[in-house]
Amino acid sequence: MELTTEEYISFFLSINQNSWIIAPFEVRLTLILNSKKIDNDKITEHIKTLSYKDFLNTDYWNIISKHIRHEYNYKCQICKAPGYVIHHKDYNRHGQEHIYWKEDLLLVCPDCHKNLHSQSNKSKEYSGGLNGNSRTAVINHLAVVKG
Ligand SMILES: [Zn+2]
Ligand SMILES: [Zn+2]
Repeated sequence: MELTTEEYISFFLSINQNSWIIAPFEVRLTLILNSKKIDNDKITEHIKTLSYKDFLNTDYWNIISKHIRHEYNYKCQICKAPGYVIHHKDYNRHGQEHIYWKEDLLLVCPDCHKNLHSQSNKSKEYSGGLNGNSRTAVINHLAVVKG
């Protein structure tokens, strides 16, 4: 089964796609990571219209974060303690997490995550010419971290 861009958006990037949840996890994972017919620019464009809170509630993010936790054996990539927090190294490629998850996302424990967002590192995540939506995503990510 190959998904078109429109199907991809409606399956993974609409909130509360309950009908889709019945598909086995492995099937969803394969589709989200390996779809070839999709227009990635359109996917990114759509994701950037979502609030960060809505983004976190998409099947897209749910599947990718589960995949990453599984890939890294639920271990913090920094200290090897149990880890479940997915950290964005930066948001320059927000909306392309399914392509660049290895490069841009890190599985960490809550302590290391706090350290990553300590004062000295904060400026790093804000730099890099973020556009409005990426900047909002960073701010919301930091709010999630604090909360
Ligand atoms: Zn850690
Ligand atoms: Zn983070």
